Amino acid sequence: MRAAAVFPGNRRVGMVNGVPEPKLESLTGVKLRVLQVGICATDREIASFMFGTPPEGFEYLVMGHEGFAEVIEAGPEVPGLKPGDLVIPTVRRPCDDPACAACRHDRSDFCITGLYREHGILSMHGFMTEFVVDEARYMRPAPSAIRDVAVLVEPLTIAEKALIQAERIQSRLPWRTDSAAQSEPFQSTPQSALHSVVAGAGPVGLLGAMALRQRGYAVSVYSREREPDPRAAITRAIGADYVSSQDCTPAQMAARIGNIDLIYEATGSATLAFDMLNVLGRNGILILTGVPGAHGPQAIDIGALITNMTLKNQCVVATVNAGNDAFDRAIADLTAFRSKWPDAARGLITGRFKLEQFETPIRDASGIKSIIEMAS
Ligand code: BGC
Repeated sequence: MRAAAVFPGNRRVGMVNGVPEPKLESLTGVKLRVLQVGICATDREIASFMFGTPPEGFEYLVMGHEGFAEVIEAGPEVPGLKPGDLVIPTVRRPCDDPACAACRHDRSDFCITGLYREHGILSMHGFMTEFVVDEARYMRPAPSAIRDVAVLVEPLTIAEKALIQAERIQSRLPWRTDSAAQSEPFQSTPQSALHSVVAGAGPVGLLGAMALRQRGYAVSVYSREREPDPRAAITRAIGADYVSSQDCTPAQMAARIGNIDLIYEATGSATLAFDMLNVLGRNGILILTGVPGAHGPQAIDIGALITNMTLKNQCVVATVNAGNDAFDRAIADLTAFRSKWPDAARGLITGRFKLEQFETPIRDASGIKSIIEMAS
């Protein structure tokens, strides 16, 4: 088999040929033919050797965690999956510690020990290869109606997990009903009264904007690019407002919007995250999804920050990875986006590459989302 890999030991990125094809040995496992794999900033960081750990006994790590695949073989004890079914494999696998309540409750996205493994990132090979064998319980079935955009499920799970938590947190506000947590979370509040800002019009930002629109929020996407720009066009196509940071400061934008109920930070810029906190409204939530890494110390007035947060009942929630609930909601939402805004959903995929060409989109971050097409 061919695979796209990173060799952290000698800081090399390249194709590996002759990887043995995995065999289905478990009664509860599935063998997958990989169809498409998305590339994100995490992959670019792995290819720059900032992190990424090969599985034990390997000097290379097969890359790729945004997978979309077809089942070609299912073990005799796999309920509900058969050859031909389309699936999204989840990314993270639980740690082995019996005391890790999160992993023992099938929520490795909240793993307490930090000893989890991740396909294509940490101690497990990823999906940028031809065939993968894994346990069926880590597969989420996808309808064929989203075949052309299903590779976007994993990045969308980041927003879905965040919004599931935001809904739980905001149930602290008695006028926001619980039943609301289903599709239109805040039914008892006029929907137009809920304002959100998405910072960053990358794939995670734009998918987050779609998920927020789907739940009835007014959405402003705040990003660098000036219009005309494809990211702005997608934003407008889903009924959201687009604001370029080159023309408007966060404070100017906030003055136009009014009380900002939710900010979804998807730029990975530490400075912007704090600027956003300054414009968050009363009872608001700031969601952090980015991983800025170390960029040196910066001066902030922490007294003013805490005073502001306390007096406005604010909450900051940071989120990584996603559970099955977020995957299933992402699949359902993407099905809805695909029929409501077909061009906007498809328009997120701006680059398509063959496996052998994977280094091009790994090195060049232009466009919105680049994918590797393994098979059609
Ligand atoms: C993935 C997550 C993963 C995280 C950290 C992200 O790009 O989407 O699933 O947990 O990287 O490794």
